[in-house]
Parts: sequence; C-alpha cells; structure tokens
Amino acid sequence: MDIETLKKIFKDNPEKSTITFKGKCSVCGVEVVIEVIPSSGGFGLQGGALFEYTPDVYFAKCPNCYKTNTKIKDHYKPKYKCIIVR
Ligand SMILES: [Zn+2]
Repeated sequence: MDIETLKKIFKDNPEKSTITFKGKCSVCGVEVVIEVIPSSGGFGLQGGALFEYTPDVYFAKCPNCYKTNTKIKDHYKPKYKCIIVR
C-alpha cells in the first residue's frame, strides 16, 4: 500500500493515533491483525503487509507469506479482504 493511501486513511480517522486492520491473509487464510503506526519516516506496519486492491478495498499478507513473496501480481484478486477496525 502506498504512503498516500495511508495518509488518507489517517486523515479520515483523525481521532486515531494508530490504525488497525483486521482480516485474513489472502494467501494462506490465517487471521491477521495489522497495526499501522506513523513514524518519522512514514509508517510502520506490524503484523503483516497491506495492499490495496481497489480504492478502499484492502487485503493483507501474513508475515510468513510476505517473506516468501513480497510482490503481488497485476490484477491479483484477493481471496480475503482486510477491514479497518473502528
Ligand atoms: Zn499467509
């Protein structure tokens, strides 16, 4: 997920200092909870990797699957979506 998208999410949720995403790894299906924490250089992600499928539709990879393959294919259609915990 690019930095502009993350900035926008934080702008849309001004009351939050960290944003939590919840869902399943789109590769292996394991539950993932990803915390996005603003840092001086941008954003830090804990618990996995986040991707944007279409605007406002996000999906995740757990740390193991992300380690195996950090890239996503073009037009990759994720099996599971990830949502922001409100
Ligand atoms: Zn996985």
